[in-house]
Amino acid sequence: MTETSDLGKLPCVSEESIIEFLKRRLLSKIIYTWAGSNLIAVNPFEDVAGAEDPALNELIRRRDGARGPLPAHVHSIAQTAHHGLQAGTDQTVIISGESGAGKTFSAHRLLHYLVQLEASGSKGTGRTVEQKLNVSNPLLEAFGNARTTNNGNSSRFCKLFRLEYGGGRLRGGAVHTCLFEKTRVMWRGAGERSFHIFYQMVAGLPAGSLHALGLDRHASLSELSGHACDADATDFAVTESAMAELGLSGEQRAAVFAVLAALLHLSRLRVVARTDDQFEVEDDAALQWAARLLGVSAPQLAETLTEQQLAAGRSSVVRRPCQTEQEVLARRDCLVRELYDGLFRWLVEWINGQIASGSAAPRAISLLDISGFESLETNSLEQLCINYANERLQQFFLASFLRRLEAAFLEEGLIGARLEYPDNGRLLVALDGPAPSVFGALDEASGLRQVVPASQLSAEAQRAACAAPGAGGEHTFTVRHFCGPVSYDARALVAKNRDRVDATLTALLAGSSEWLVRQLPSPAAAPGTPRGARRRNTVLARLQLSVGALLRRLDGSDVQFVRCVRPNGAGAPGLVADAYMRRQLRAAGVLATARLSAAGFPFRLTPTEFVARYTELVELRQRAEPRPNNQLLTQTIERWTPDDPGVRVGTGHVFLTRGAWYRLGDLCQLAR
Ligand code: ADP
Ligand code: MG
Repeated sequence: MTETSDLGKLPCVSEESIIEFLKRRLLSKIIYTWAGSNLIAVNPFEDVAGAEDPALNELIRRRDGARGPLPAHVHSIAQTAHHGLQAGTDQTVIISGESGAGKTFSAHRLLHYLVQLEASGSKGTGRTVEQKLNVSNPLLEAFGNARTTNNGNSSRFCKLFRLEYGGGRLRGGAVHTCLFEKTRVMWRGAGERSFHIFYQMVAGLPAGSLHALGLDRHASLSELSGHACDADATDFAVTESAMAELGLSGEQRAAVFAVLAALLHLSRLRVVARTDDQFEVEDDAALQWAARLLGVSAPQLAETLTEQQLAAGRSSVVRRPCQTEQEVLARRDCLVRELYDGLFRWLVEWINGQIASGSAAPRAISLLDISGFESLETNSLEQLCINYANERLQQFFLASFLRRLEAAFLEEGLIGARLEYPDNGRLLVALDGPAPSVFGALDEASGLRQVVPASQLSAEAQRAACAAPGAGGEHTFTVRHFCGPVSYDARALVAKNRDRVDATLTALLAGSSEWLVRQLPSPAAAPGTPRGARRRNTVLARLQLSVGALLRRLDGSDVQFVRCVRPNGAGAPGLVADAYMRRQLRAAGVLATARLSAAGFPFRLTPTEFVARYTELVELRQRAEPRPNNQLLTQTIERWTPDDPGVRVGTGHVFLTRGAWYRLGDLCQLAR
């Protein structure tokens, strides 16, 4: 028998055996491995296409109706999804992993494969839809990706790409984004870049156009902290043609570039002290250009930046001049951030308008590219957000897994599978449920500008027995996430959670003479905010809504996971750092998934296969039966392993847990 490509079928499922197994495969340049119905994809950091032929050939055989398990390959995930879709169920593929693990790479492969399946199956509409879907990706990446220390082209947002089918054909799609790292536009780590588009534009726009935006190629590049790279100019050509292909006219593109240029000018603004505690924005070329490009007056822009608006009581506000230079700069940063965020959202909306399927109730395959669990040295709101999103996805996956198992059992005339599985429902209630909860406490404090003591947050988490004891100092609280405990630093949470944009900044932009600036979605309008609902406008509240909206879109669909793993920190081919892998496998809950699938009857044999495999256990006269029947199987099993909860005999298959599989194997050995 050939070696298994499924972790759930290893004789012993432990972290060590999993790592050994993945390592051995990677050295043979085999990067895909099943963990039950989920796929693990190890980033090889080199081209391993040559080693994929056996898997791809097997897949073609399967497509032609051959029997047997699908080969461990990302195309099998696509094929399963496509198959499930045709059978009438929406499909979701969640691609997760840490930065640089290969999520975006896998998502592209899935998308291309799915589009290609269509192209070969039908004629006509496929091609233009395909083109539009294909160019929307590089466009999103130009505005949403950046070079980080981990990845030269790191996506700084989570992306849900929906492929929509109507009448059995691919009709169009939609993109939804969340967790966009808008802070990067003003702040980033040493050696990292802002979003690609800034560098592309400065390197790629003709000198005359740059001049008209008040920019100078050389000066601007050095302001972008000198991280230009050779490909920027050519990448700009790709971005610009993608914009054009998606229907953005020359005038519209120019308006986009004007906003980007305004942001560059804003980031150059200088603050000067008028008196000890009064500050103003220097009236220089940067201010003039920024104001002109944003379609507002320079004095008005300067005033908005230097005067804070504070809420006094329920409905009235007071204005107060900023008292420190930092206050002014913080307002400027906020404006830049919100403008860029608005521009990104506007672009996503535009793309959606172009790729929309127009079908009333389309079936969909959704590809979700989202960073996985994070547990860093210090964890803050960013980690809480991403870990919460992952926790919700895990819950979603479990529901889908159990539903599918149940369906398989039902089909075989079996009733209820009793499965021990790690349910995270209580943890989620302790996190985002009605107060008292972790989010509740933070949101409330964000409204009152209070600090929540870590002990209170711990207490909220503990209610669901999901706080791990002991870890971290007095400022931290620990949440026992489904894949391990994470300690969060409580100190900056409230301030970060507030993230409020005051109304004067929004009003300034609403009064712009530039159509695009006026059209940018206002920061207060969080996606899916129910009108009139008394909701707190905090980062966590908005996250909860957007994750909820996202999951509603995926509702009822079958879920498959692609867990991307980065074998080493250096991005080197052929190198596996055990500790590095272990951390990620834990974060991906791979062990939990492998055990779940082991508990979930991963072995399914037809009666004929059963008799062939366990010949020694079957009575001699019965072996000769041309078609073994269920009664025979039940008798055999009852004789050898009575009341084994790991074996179920259905109408067409025998279901075995991993334990039962090996128990029967051992009995065979003994009977020999
Ligand atoms: P992520 O989206 O998880 O941050 P990416 O998909 O951007 O990571 O991948 C990081 C780098 O690794 C990219 O340069 C990509 O080309 C490379 N890479 C990822 N997966 C593969 C693969 N299967 N084969 C070859 N290179 C890969
Ligand atoms: Mg990515």
